Amino acid sequence: MKLLFTLISCFAMLAGNSQIKVDKAGNFWDKEVYKALAHIKEIDSTAYDYVLSNTDRISFWNENYNTFEVVNGTRILLLSSQIMDKSLNNLSSTIVHESYHSCHAIDHAKPCREELDAYLFELSFLFRMKDAEPWLIEFVYDKIRYYKIQNERGDCK
Ligand SMILES: [Zn+2]
Repeated sequence: MKLLFTLISCFAMLAGNSQIKVDKAGNFWDKEVYKALAHIKEIDSTAYDYVLSNTDRISFWNENYNTFEVVNGTRILLLSSQIMDKSLNNLSSTIVHESYHSCHAIDHAKPCREELDAYLFELSFLFRMKDAEPWLIEFVYDKIRYYKIQNERGDCK
């Protein structure tokens, strides 16, 4: 119930954004991201509106994790290696996951609580796909198990 409420509040708070700017980089990586955005829209138009409401820009970087930042709007930073792994489903679900964090840029929960919620949100999106790769679902399940244990142990700082 808390998750549903926070999702609705993100729509209300940031509605109005109608376009995401995608930086040009690599071998037409921007086109891969636009493909992923169209894929999200096709799978779940509500998830697409959610991404649109919480993301102003998408860029790429060479660190070993995806993240977001808030500087003149919200920007998702995608791992460049992820663009090259050629899984449109993985790229799409990653964008949905990071938009969850963008939504909570102001009211961050404890980091591993927020990660748990972000992966649950991502999993609910994956379940709407007809062809989500089993390894991708398993990866997200592993993360959910990990962050659930961290939360239960109280190890979440
Ligand atoms: Zn995350």
